[in-house]
Amino acid sequence: MTLSTLGHFINGTPVADTARTQPVYNPATGQVVRNVALASRQTVEGAIAAAAAAFPAWRDTPPLKRARIMFRFKELLEQNASRISALITEEHGKVLDDALGEFQRGVEVVEYACGAPEFLKGEHAKNVGPAIDSWSEFQPLGVVAGITPFNFPAMVPMWMYPMAIVCGNTFVLKPSERDPSPQHLIAHLFKEAGLPDGVFNVVNGDKEAVDTLLTDPRVQAVSFVGSTPIAEYIYATGTKHGKRIQALGGAKNHAIVMPDADIDNAVSALMGAAYGSCGERCMAISVAVAVGDEVGDQLVAKLKERLASLKVGPGTAPGIDMGPLISKPHFEKVRGYVDLGVEEGADLVVDGRGLTVPGHEEGYFLGGCLFDKVQPSMRIYKEEIFGPVLCVLRVKSQEEAMALIDAHEYGNGTCIFTRDGEAARYFTDNIRVGMVGVNVALPVPVAVHSFGGWKRSLFGDLYAYGPDSVRFYTRRKTITQRWPSGGVRDKAQFAFPS
Ligand code: NAD
Repeated sequence: MTLSTLGHFINGTPVADTARTQPVYNPATGQVVRNVALASRQTVEGAIAAAAAAFPAWRDTPPLKRARIMFRFKELLEQNASRISALITEEHGKVLDDALGEFQRGVEVVEYACGAPEFLKGEHAKNVGPAIDSWSEFQPLGVVAGITPFNFPAMVPMWMYPMAIVCGNTFVLKPSERDPSPQHLIAHLFKEAGLPDGVFNVVNGDKEAVDTLLTDPRVQAVSFVGSTPIAEYIYATGTKHGKRIQALGGAKNHAIVMPDADIDNAVSALMGAAYGSCGERCMAISVAVAVGDEVGDQLVAKLKERLASLKVGPGTAPGIDMGPLISKPHFEKVRGYVDLGVEEGADLVVDGRGLTVPGHEEGYFLGGCLFDKVQPSMRIYKEEIFGPVLCVLRVKSQEEAMALIDAHEYGNGTCIFTRDGEAARYFTDNIRVGMVGVNVALPVPVAVHSFGGWKRSLFGDLYAYGPDSVRFYTRRKTITQRWPSGGVRDKAQFAFPS
């Protein structure tokens, strides 16, 4: 069977540029399902040129008309939900329900973007001085780029371009080369919704494409989501080239389980948050901090019991809880961390290595793994594993648990399980993390808020989507205007106007 090669979508038209390609795998079977083209510098420059050419007319399109296109886009997305989710599962491996869930969270950003006429209307002050009015408006930046990771192939790109585009910018997206198909289909739907050609362009590719976007002077801003080393590189290179950058990085999210917590609820929440999507979520809980040994013992015993019935298999099969990891190298990396944890002396209570899924022997399946008695000095605690591996640490007090979280290099998400309002309030007030849950293990902000972490989980000042994205994708301009009437003539004034 000859495999197809997924190209690019530039100026409303499919573009091939297949000189360099790379295989795209179905992680549940280990088979190549198609190839993806890796764009050359010239192809990416072509996409930037198309976006630059489309910008003046799009900037001048009334926000209401832009929002109407978003409404149609949302409808088309919903009509194609099952096709898009199927592509996510095919290339990423997550179970279909989970694929649909991430897709819906992306659609919520499109819904929020439909409010553009409201959030772009600016701020007005009349009579700030005699016959003087003043207002601030939010002008689009121009060509904006987005570079996204493999783990949410539909949702994370949709954190970016709906808001950028509705604010009047034009966009070049570089999705992950490991699961590029969902965004390709979505780009066609956006055109069908009435988006003018050149406003949204998708280039597939690798470092060559990314570096072109980071250095081309026509690109005004870059949104990035991915691992911390690359986020840091994007921030340093992009800002050096005069661009506005938001670069969201990796994570190691802790959940504190207090002695008064409803342990059964906490265990259910932790199972989903640690093993859902095979732990490949930037908000996944990868560390559970038990306050007191009694809680630690109960937690580990109940997690062990629940892991025994975790159903691992292809994301397309009914009743599956957890699919495969994204790729063979990533599978080997995660399994290597489990080996390392054993070498480091942590207690491997549940070992997911050696799992085989009948009929899918070549798939990248790893069973859920659980470590107890993990120490803060261990690499399995310090580093982001990004797989189905939960580490349990035991501490004596809430303060000790919070000190642990604060000392960690990442600060993306965290959660506390407790029935004590005072403890919860102390936690939310003081913890040095960007997104915080109280009895909510995955506190992913809804579209009317914004998403971002602290410390080395975010480089830049503004979060993704929600109100922060209006600030990120626009530049404020303040106009002060005077229309003297009644034949008033000015005298020169040398004092500062007040
Ligand atoms: P990644 O950093 O490997 O890749 C992200 C993007 O950067 C991809 O488009 C990739 O093509 C590009 N890229 C990779 N190497 C590059 C290089 N050397 N130079 C230029 N560009 C390069 O991340 P990933 O493995 O696709 O995704 C997983 C990571 O993303 C995890 O660390 C996870 O925590 C993080 N993530 C963070 C968030 C968040 O909101 N903070 C959300 C999702 C994922």
